[in-house]
Amino acid sequence: MRYVTAAEMKEIDRRAIEDRGIPAKVLMENAGKALYEWAVKSAAGGDSAVVFCGYGNNGGDGLVAARHLIKNGYNVSIILAGKPKSLSPETNANLEEILQMGVKPQFISKKEDIEPALKNIKKNSIIIDAIFGIGIRGDLDEFYAELISGINNIGVPVVSADIPSGMDADSGKPLPVAVKAAVTVTFGHPKSGFKKAEAKECLGKLVVADIGLPAEDAAAKKRMPERRVYLREGKKGIVRPGHPWIFKSQILSADSSANPGDIVAVTDAGGKVVGRGYYNPKSEISVRILSFSNENIDEDIFIKRIGEAFEKRKNILKVTNAYRAVFSEGDFLPGLIVDIYDDTAVFQVLTLGMEKMKVWAVGAINKILKPKYIYEKSSSSFRKLEGLKDMNMWWGEKGKDCIEISEGPAKFLVDIINGHKTGFYLDQRKSRMALEGLCKDREVLDLFSYTGGFSVSAAVYGARHVTGVDIKDAWLELARENARISGVAEMTEFIKGDAFFVLKDMLDSDRKFDVIIIDPPSFLKTSQSLASASKGYRELNTLAMRILKDKGILATFSCSYNMPNEVFSDILKKSAEDAEKKTAILKRCHQAEDHPIVRAIPETEYLKGYFLKVENK
Ligand code: SAH
Repeated sequence: MRYVTAAEMKEIDRRAIEDRGIPAKVLMENAGKALYEWAVKSAAGGDSAVVFCGYGNNGGDGLVAARHLIKNGYNVSIILAGKPKSLSPETNANLEEILQMGVKPQFISKKEDIEPALKNIKKNSIIIDAIFGIGIRGDLDEFYAELISGINNIGVPVVSADIPSGMDADSGKPLPVAVKAAVTVTFGHPKSGFKKAEAKECLGKLVVADIGLPAEDAAAKKRMPERRVYLREGKKGIVRPGHPWIFKSQILSADSSANPGDIVAVTDAGGKVVGRGYYNPKSEISVRILSFSNENIDEDIFIKRIGEAFEKRKNILKVTNAYRAVFSEGDFLPGLIVDIYDDTAVFQVLTLGMEKMKVWAVGAINKILKPKYIYEKSSSSFRKLEGLKDMNMWWGEKGKDCIEISEGPAKFLVDIINGHKTGFYLDQRKSRMALEGLCKDREVLDLFSYTGGFSVSAAVYGARHVTGVDIKDAWLELARENARISGVAEMTEFIKGDAFFVLKDMLDSDRKFDVIIIDPPSFLKTSQSLASASKGYRELNTLAMRILKDKGILATFSCSYNMPNEVFSDILKKSAEDAEKKTAILKRCHQAEDHPIVRAIPETEYLKGYFLKVENK
């Protein structure tokens, strides 16, 4: 028995996306809809349907058909048959949608599973056969032979997706047993074997569904010319060297065939291609360049970029098993974030163009980073701007929702499902680890503690006592757990409260600390709110300086790109004046090195901070 392999699946996806200009997902959606329409036509008034699927893309169109049937009031059972060698990403996405509709598929993989699964199928049902849509060559193993003959024996009409299961599409021969379809809905171009007389009894009524594939010759013609975007003349059209963003205002025109999310060649006024990237005319940043050199944008570019990114991060693995493997523009893969937590990769897709290429991203993640599990956590306000809905799902086998990681001597549980971002603030690793040597026997206050990143670090580096403050119970609970697994539960305390009020109370009650950490959330999402954000930072830092002991240390941060370093530094000076203290800079902090700061792309530098020594005047 042979069915489609992961490599073939990728090839199908690649061709569907690149050669035909149609994403595999769209093809599958259209194929599934056609299947559904024929199933309804063949059902002769019944209202039950049983959909048999495999795990490749063919299973995906079966699931799309099932979704349409469910929406239209059919009583639908879904049976996934066989042992998954690889689950096609599109099929996985469709499976997720089915699960969200509250329908639980049945999984059968052994001969003993078959009889109970077939027993309950009602006589007035319709069966959709999407097990082997891609065809089989060679033998049929016993499990499938038995399943197929079981399906034939039920005596209800079968609608087959593309090729009836058990039929060799090239020779037109049924294998020892093949589905006898009432209707075969085939996609694209009928297979050669369909013309053979022997094929007839399997195919039933042969319908060639229009799923949006251009004819072969049209596809070949379409492959050649690139879709182009043309830059304006003069200053406006000049691309900032090394910066991947092309703004709407820089673009003169685009080929009419360039659709949102397509790969385009950006052409300057002199007709020279300056780079290739993806296009979204709806976004202010209308093109994000993936390559400035003359190379194709395909899975290889993902393999290359992720490979280069991995090389840069090898040193980090000495201190932790959690790191950012891909930092969007910082690693020249705009719109893609990949974080590794032990054996699990958690990735985020932020733009439409990247969404369309995510199959390649997942392929390269598997190949280079080799995680055991992959979770997609594409939930972000950025996606809305790109016209995308959030998407959270496991790709393939489900891993752990809460993953234990280590960072130096500290251990943390990362809740990848509910946590902020992908679960943990990997960007603060260097600053957390810089607490070593500063906390021994000290009294430490960690404001905005989240799951205890700084608190637990301070404690494992010898603090006498650490107080962590956060406004959210769930994070405090996880912080306590993190202190426990790091062996520092006794010297840590986590309290719920608004950092501003907690500081004021501490000031009133004359509570003092040796080290204070302030790592607040971004106070400003846009550049407009700089003035009010500045007020917030100033107040926080002034209060903290007041409750620091003489010669105490303040570690203070801002994670907003829109808060320029000079402004932040100035705020800290003003806070010191307000608190009547002298300050000296012990250390300037940046995001950790797995969040590369590319000089040509200022937006890649967002996290800034200072370790200040604060003295009485
Ligand atoms: N320092 C952390 C990350 C901090 S994220 C680390 O290294 O892991 C910011 C945290 O601030 C979030 O957990 C959020 O719940 C909390 N927060 C937001 N507003 C707050 C407020 N007014 N007072 C206290 N905590 C607040």
